[in-house]
Amino acid sequence: MNEDFITLGLEKDILQAVNYLGFEKPTSIQKKCIPIVLNKKTDLVALAQTGTGKTAAFGLPLIQKITTHSNNIQALILAPTRELCIQITEDLKNFARVKKTKILALYGGASISDQVRNLKKGVQIIVATPGRLQDIINRRLVILSNVNYLIIDEADEMLNMGFQEAIDKILETVSKKRNTWLFSATMPNSVSKIIYQYMNDPIEVTCGIKNQSASTVNHYYYLINHKTRYKALRRVIDYNPFFYAIIFCRTRAETQNITDRLQTDGFNTDGLHGDMSQMQRDAVMKKFKKKKITILVATDVASRGIDVDNISHVVHYQLPDDVEVYTHRSGRTGRAGNLGKSISLIGAKDMHKLKKIEKTLNFKIEKKNIPSNSEVIKALVTKSIDDLLNSKINEKSLKPLKKIICDISEKITSKEILEKFISHSLSKMIDLYEDSEDLNSLNKKQLVRSERVFINIGEKDGLNWATLKDLLINKTSLNDEDLGGVDVKRSFSFFNVSKEKIKGVFKSLKGFSLGGRDVVIEISKKSKEKNSIKIKKARSAHSNTKERTKLKSRKHKRNKKK
Ligand code: ADP
Ligand code: MG
Repeated sequence: MNEDFITLGLEKDILQAVNYLGFEKPTSIQKKCIPIVLNKKTDLVALAQTGTGKTAAFGLPLIQKITTHSNNIQALILAPTRELCIQITEDLKNFARVKKTKILALYGGASISDQVRNLKKGVQIIVATPGRLQDIINRRLVILSNVNYLIIDEADEMLNMGFQEAIDKILETVSKKRNTWLFSATMPNSVSKIIYQYMNDPIEVTCGIKNQSASTVNHYYYLINHKTRYKALRRVIDYNPFFYAIIFCRTRAETQNITDRLQTDGFNTDGLHGDMSQMQRDAVMKKFKKKKITILVATDVASRGIDVDNISHVVHYQLPDDVEVYTHRSGRTGRAGNLGKSISLIGAKDMHKLKKIEKTLNFKIEKKNIPSNSEVIKALVTKSIDDLLNSKINEKSLKPLKKIICDISEKITSKEILEKFISHSLSKMIDLYEDSEDLNSLNKKQLVRSERVFINIGEKDGLNWATLKDLLINKTSLNDEDLGGVDVKRSFSFFNVSKEKIKGVFKSLKGFSLGGRDVVIEISKKSKEKNSIKIKKARSAHSNTKERTKLKSRKHKRNKKK
């Protein structure tokens, strides 16, 4: 029997269950929480990152404390989502596999009358989402006056999701003699308020640094733009041979869209979002857990609290606005001591969000290059050879084919077979990747959006920035939004124009003259060197002394011509 767990004060029934689950050592939050709540009647606040085993930290001592002789509801566990509710219920049932405690999950999206019928049969522990429980309380179908233990799991999430009111209502209904144990990954003000308002002098237990993501997760990002976002995702997937992942999207529509595209591209994938019925969602989760699908595309709400071991990657298809959401998403991987990767696909516009996450969580998110075509192809080939080498030879069914196999093997070397096999099995992939662009350089190109242009007309020609703009729009095919940074000087001016349009501008202005003088444009040297991600920088180009000297000499030449 497991020594470490024995010393925490757990009884035989529970230890057997722990043994059965294969837990070898208690996690640090379990080491801290279990003895406290077993030995003391106290309120408890426990802060620990996701994936640190909080369910067992409250679940194991709870099962020990509940008496199976009475059919009163002795414990109530609140959890933010139905998925988490089901998850906790499953975990508790495992902890109680010897003791046979009666546990019931109450959550929305499933038949309320079924749930109430089960409730009437007598249960000792309820695991509920706030919404559904409040509904049942309002209908006076549940008695919570015998509850000795109230557990609030993922308190931060629950409040994030707007359950404040429901929680207030429930906390007022539950017996005042209870002990309250609150579990959370982070401690925002809303949670402190709950603690202050509804808990009695709680013992506080913290593991790791508050508000920090699990350290078994590596964080990095790819710089992309909206045109390459999906392509980059594909490469990330193809590049990682054992990709078992959740891809987080911000909206239901995006979730659906990405799911569809991945399915069309032949990936084992499905989506999880709020438009789906409970039955559909359960079915998807089941497939994901059994690895029938290996990529789950999900919205934040639909995927909260998902506990699936061995998830290799979490992908933020879009960065969330909220740092806490980032933490929770990332916490879906790197669980139970496994290593995980949290990958963000970030457009230049979202860099500030990344910085905010880094600052709040106090770690660096490393930039990586999107894998190149040849890197992806290499990864795919290696994977398929691995699969081939690891596959079993089916002696029995090969028996009648022995002669054919012998004949073939005389005609072809094993190297040739391998080459043919690779070419054959990967022909589609190689086609897809061989001529597709380097997404990193595409990225750089895209970032360099506009060119700084010099034009030899200015105030002297009666122009200001508005009239110069009008003139350009009239004479060329440019639109208002194609032109920026118009800066009119005495005898010359500057403006910015997008790179794709610059050729057209040269063409349209050919032969155009103003006041008897040929109008000439030139791409500013400064623009060529530094380029203009930041228009502001380019704007001050003319004040650069080198540039100024050049311009002066240009001007000089012009005057001489005259
Ligand atoms: P949290 O609620 O902190 O996010 P969970 O309670 O969901 O984490 O546990 C995460 C995973 O770790 C689960 O798969 C769980 O079965 C596993 N786990 C929990 N405690 C242990 C332990 N002592 N040893 C090994 N695995 C554990
Ligand atoms: Mg949990």
